[in-house]
Amino acid sequence: MSDNKVRVRFAPSPTGPLHMGGVRTALFNYLFARKNGGKFLLRIEDTDQTRYVPGAEDYIAEALNWCGIKIDEGVTVGGEYGPYRQSERKPMYREYAEKLVASGDAYYAFDTAEELDAMRHKYEAEKKTFTYNSDTRETLNNSLALSADEVQAKIEAGTPYVVRFKMPVNEELHLHDEIRKHVVFNTSALDDKVLFKSDGMPTYHLANVVDDYLMKISHVIRGEEWLPSMPLHVLLYRKLGWEAQMPKFAHLPLILKPVGKGKLSKRDGDKLGFPVFPLLWTDPKTQDISSGYREDGYFPEAFINMLALLGWNPGTEQEIFSIEELSEIFSLERVGKSGSKFDPEKTKWFNHQYLKTKSDEEIGQLFNREVLVKKDIEADADKISRICGMVKERVNFVSEIWDQVNFFFETPKEFDAKTTKKAWKADAPELMQELKGILSNISDFSSANTEEIVKEWITAKEIGFGKVMNPFRLAMVGAGKGPHIFDIIDILGKEETLSRIDFACETL
Ligand code: GLU
Repeated sequence: MSDNKVRVRFAPSPTGPLHMGGVRTALFNYLFARKNGGKFLLRIEDTDQTRYVPGAEDYIAEALNWCGIKIDEGVTVGGEYGPYRQSERKPMYREYAEKLVASGDAYYAFDTAEELDAMRHKYEAEKKTFTYNSDTRETLNNSLALSADEVQAKIEAGTPYVVRFKMPVNEELHLHDEIRKHVVFNTSALDDKVLFKSDGMPTYHLANVVDDYLMKISHVIRGEEWLPSMPLHVLLYRKLGWEAQMPKFAHLPLILKPVGKGKLSKRDGDKLGFPVFPLLWTDPKTQDISSGYREDGYFPEAFINMLALLGWNPGTEQEIFSIEELSEIFSLERVGKSGSKFDPEKTKWFNHQYLKTKSDEEIGQLFNREVLVKKDIEADADKISRICGMVKERVNFVSEIWDQVNFFFETPKEFDAKTTKKAWKADAPELMQELKGILSNISDFSSANTEEIVKEWITAKEIGFGKVMNPFRLAMVGAGKGPHIFDIIDILGKEETLSRIDFACETL
């Protein structure tokens, strides 16, 4: 690298919603840039127009934004190496394809789709697989097999053609990957990839390498599925005379299924009930909906924290990291070679960790917005925060709070049968009326005060606490659950507490 600056890019193709594996790739690039004082770029690789999905690019930008992954340069923010959308860079690529043809490292191929299909069938009939490579290329319809005049005539006649890379024969490539270290490829195992298509667009391989070069990318950090492309990419740098500027490569390990073998897929999510996408996605064609972490109630901090530990490890027991903290300690050296199993339960655990450390006010506001408003329940903000504070240790998601606290907002009209059987004994009505008398005389209805007075009374009566507490809880809550009973009545207030005692005595 000439100026030694770290510049990394996330280069998704807008072919659908971003998979969580893609978010992890973006995250590792981002963290690497932050750690090294570099720049994080977002480039959209949309040269394959047949796979373009409307809305996918906006989805990607929104997902990164939700995750707190900030783009320094690229689509949505601009920068001096733009445009950052490959379809808008279309005129730039042809010259490099031509340069490779001129140096003999690429060639024109006129084979039609039908011709190639026929070839495939012919090979299949002999139980072989057809590959466009050094074994076959001299016999096919291309500028290696045709005479210069024939080629010229075809081009002049407007015959469609592609440009293919002429893969060297039987060369052993010893390459370095930052994660896998030494990797060896033999070029004879590789085919002659199309670099430039007949529609005037480059393919992924050419556009990717040209853009990484022009955008001065220092490190290519991407998923393991791109490792097989590495030898071609390295050869392109070499043949284009850019080897000195070639980025370093780092191929991230796969994210694996929670159960069984193989790469995590959308089907695993559907089967086991977890999202594989950061945000909800509605397929523009089918209108099918796929769930997203955001809409399922995950905090972006929890999602990011979970993703960071899929493949990277801090070398300590610590598990909770903010994105700022990760930005300080992330390194490629601590990214493992082997895939990591995705654990949906652990992901909930991460959410729980973040939920419980958020302030009662913040959780209260979220709960109000996400649950109470939708139920048309109005309540004082301070009261909501206090209620949420009481139960936040017990839930993974804000949406789960309702089941823990519904009785604060709706007077229980029914009583859980099992709890009633256990808690509401023959002497319950009498004890509850006595308790009502005691409570009605208390003017300071704070939790500590009511607790002290009620407990004194029970002690003096020389009966078990449960005899009073169990029916009392049933009367307040309608069930056997809930936080500390005196905290509950503190929030309900005296009037409501007394009226619930009466209601229980009348009903049970
Ligand atoms: N466009 C490729 C993708 O969709 C980029 C791969 C790379 O980073 O080189 O993942």
